[in-house]
Amino acid sequence: MTLDSDDRELASQLLSNRGSWRDTQIAADYEASFAKWNGSRYAFAFMSGREALSACIYSLNLQPGDEVILPGYTCIVVPNALQYAGLVAVFCDIELDTYGLDASQVEQKITSRTRAILIHHLYGLVARDYEQTIELARRYGLKVIEDCAHATGAELNGLSVGNRGDLAFYSSERSKIFNTIQGGIAVSNDSILAQRLREYHHLAEYPDNQHIERQLQNVILEYYSAKHPQRWWLADVVNILYGDKKVVSTTKEEERGVRPKQYGRKMPPAVCALAINQLAKIQSYNELRRTTAEKWNEWCSDNKHKPPTVVPGSVPAFLRYPVLVEPERKSNTAWALKDLGITLGVWFLTNTHPAPSSIENCPNANKAVTECINFPCLLG
Ligand SMILES: *Cc1c(COP(=O)(O)O)cnc(C)c1O
Repeated sequence: MTLDSDDRELASQLLSNRGSWRDTQIAADYEASFAKWNGSRYAFAFMSGREALSACIYSLNLQPGDEVILPGYTCIVVPNALQYAGLVAVFCDIELDTYGLDASQVEQKITSRTRAILIHHLYGLVARDYEQTIELARRYGLKVIEDCAHATGAELNGLSVGNRGDLAFYSSERSKIFNTIQGGIAVSNDSILAQRLREYHHLAEYPDNQHIERQLQNVILEYYSAKHPQRWWLADVVNILYGDKKVVSTTKEEERGVRPKQYGRKMPPAVCALAINQLAKIQSYNELRRTTAEKWNEWCSDNKHKPPTVVPGSVPAFLRYPVLVEPERKSNTAWALKDLGITLGVWFLTNTHPAPSSIENCPNANKAVTECINFPCLLG
């Protein structure tokens, strides 16, 4: 959780100064700062990673029935974005070194309707087959979208993830690398694709003021419940004040594939102000995550588990530290609190988390569903 007292302070200031909520210069500043920081030419901010993905899909100008190959181990909101655009999601198996798309499996999924490949950098690891998959896509004339929701700030050979494919998106949802409660941003280095992103962004609406207010209140709520030194009693107080205003990332309807009524919104300046403040912290938080990952490496070697693969030349972001364990240790996670004093992460519990689903011919993805747990990399 990367919200600190200065973020809480900023949220309070924004709540008492609604005049700044529609100051579009702040939004332009965030997009320009993110693009520069990330080494990308163009960036457009949305209300979530999934909405930024929908912008990327729009940008590719795909037709209903077109196929997009994606990992069979992902978040339901990813295939949902394809489905909303009338596209066919073609699930492909993953590898178990970094939980990314297995390049050796991709080729046999390509048909005459395939238009794009969606790759991801899960848990903040740079995907093992990153460059290979992009080469394959180039060979077949396919576009590549990079899902960097877990990997903001991760690099390969000095270049941030998201810059090798055609389009990429990042998330600043509360459980991700940086936190604006909800948020996402799409990038591209291609001026034609960027023009389409700009068009989508231009037509998108802002969330209403009530939603913006709730989101700012959630910053305060989250800070007091997870970070404040006196959270043992303050958490209860803010819960009484704001507890019923908690923003939900994915509704039950959305899990069933229903497109939310409010979808495709751009990030309002009030949230962009928070994002600017968070952006400045990503580097140091990621360093902290990498230091914690070293501890989990030791745990792996002590317990005879294989550590996740860090691709040579890569700097992972380590949003979480994934390990394969016995299925019983994933279905009942109480041991982690008892033995390690931590709450274990279980991303993902299904092939399209958290929606129930099963996918055939993806043995590695299915193995990850039953055996992959993850350790937190920001402790305390
Ligand atoms: C969270 C997540 C997303 C979507 O990000 P939101 O900001 O929550 O919409 C996409 N892909 C993966 C792998 C994620 O974990």
